[in-house]
Amino acid sequence: MSEKRIEDVVIIGSGPAGWTAAIYAARARLDPLVYEGAPSREMIPGGQLMFTTEVENYPGFAEGIDGQKLMMEMKAQARRFDTRIVTDDIVEIDTASRPFRLRSTEGDEIHARAVIVATGARANWLGLHNEERLAQSGGGVSACAVCDGALPAFRDQVLAVVGGGDSAMEEATYLTKFASEVVIIHRRDSFRASPIMAERALQNPKIRVEWDSEVIDVLGDDFITGLRLRNNRTGEEREIEAGGLFLAIGHTPNTSFLEGVVDLDENGYIIPAKPGRVVTNVEGIFGAGDVMDDYYRQAVTAAGTGCMAALEAERWLAHHADADPAPETPAQPVTTG
Ligand code: NAP
Repeated sequence: MSEKRIEDVVIIGSGPAGWTAAIYAARARLDPLVYEGAPSREMIPGGQLMFTTEVENYPGFAEGIDGQKLMMEMKAQARRFDTRIVTDDIVEIDTASRPFRLRSTEGDEIHARAVIVATGARANWLGLHNEERLAQSGGGVSACAVCDGALPAFRDQVLAVVGGGDSAMEEATYLTKFASEVVIIHRRDSFRASPIMAERALQNPKIRVEWDSEVIDVLGDDFITGLRLRNNRTGEEREIEAGGLFLAIGHTPNTSFLEGVVDLDENGYIIPAKPGRVVTNVEGIFGAGDVMDDYYRQAVTAAGTGCMAALEAERWLAHHADADPAPETPAQPVTTG
């Protein structure tokens, strides 16, 4: 790629936030360039929805839609408006001068007036072989109860939730709508969750807790049938029945390349510079989706903030484009993913 081309807007990430930002930016004639990410063990282009089988709560799909299909449709929609796509990660943003200088894993150097960061967050997993196998095959292991809990396979089953924070309390309480029983498995003898959320869960007659316990294996060939637990105090191991497993052990935002670039909170999430806006403390860099949201974390909210980021970028460019040097050479073609 030429070092001379100056992009109006580079979008980093390819989940609902990234593609929605691309659709809006492309329709606003900003000719966006999307770095959709390179496939790795933890993340693949398309983000977390690529690991979800059925999405039933994204508006517009009365019968639900497969997570991968939804992402392919969003990408196709962005392409329809001539979004350019590169299958690589951005690993560095240099804000020392404008336009910003971005560098990709494969060594591309990109100059961009505005950047939308939509790299998302990844759910934390226990790291067990059978957990990963059944999560990837749609075998009843999930890191999102709100996304998957209402699926027919989980009706009237004993469902297990791992974690002791607010997410675990919320997800366990939510799952009682469908489950015959919900078992919270927590590694200590007290919850990290806020007292009100913990109390609500503990008072629910359908919820019981396995304290001081860790999941050491997930049982079942094609679909989960149970869990092997180890008591952290006694070392005792035993098996319990489970027709579903939901991990609620936190998320990690994909922001390691942003350290020292924009303001991040103690967990690595981008801090909005203005309440209710998707602007960062660096003018011209915007955030969208889960990378800036540890609270709602839904596909539809990510898409919404992707739209917001594109509108912010468009307005920001309209007011600041004159200050930037003009491109020295015409656009060069880029690889499309
Ligand atoms: P969190 O507060 O970090 O809690 C993660 C839980 O998972 C902790 O109980 C932790 O155990 C456990 N855990 C972590 N790694 C583990 C492992 N490898 N094996 C077993 N257990 C493990 O995360 P969160 O619950 O997702 O909440 C994140 C933020 O969002 C919090 O600020 C929370 O208040 C907020 N939130 C708010 C709401 C709400 O208000 N409605 C709902 C959801 C989340 P330890 O306790 O032993 O460390």
